[in-house]
Amino acid sequence: MTCIFWHIVAHELPAEILCEDNDLVIFKDINPAAPIHFLIVPKKHIDSINGLDEKNAGIVSKMVLAAKRMAEQHGVQSGYRLMINTGREAGQVVYHLHMHFMGGWGRKPVIR
Ligand code: 5GP
Repeated sequence: MTCIFWHIVAHELPAEILCEDNDLVIFKDINPAAPIHFLIVPKKHIDSINGLDEKNAGIVSKMVLAAKRMAEQHGVQSGYRLMINTGREAGQVVYHLHMHFMGGWGRKPVIR
């Protein structure tokens, strides 16, 4: 099973990668819905929350802890939103488990 995130995780397609470890890759969403919008993506392919079981569900706590670290690093501990769309009716478009990290609403806009 391949999908666009699988290719990003494998470095076969470009993305603005912020960090990576043995389990996760974190990159900027191509179409941000918040001033800060990252995607926290497991390296191992799992379609969605529906594909979790007792053996692989530990990845979700790693995703949440990565989100906490991102909030610290980007100075948005005062408010951020984590979202996992699951299934077509909820708006899931990419069938490779991912958590949206959104925040930064309190920041001043950048004037160019
Ligand atoms: P979903 O609706 O499946 O939860 O969210 C998929 C997200 O992936 C969307 O917010 C969309 O903007 C983002 N996305 C889709 N394709 C790409 C891509 O090729 N690169 C990056 N960085 N983000 C993508």
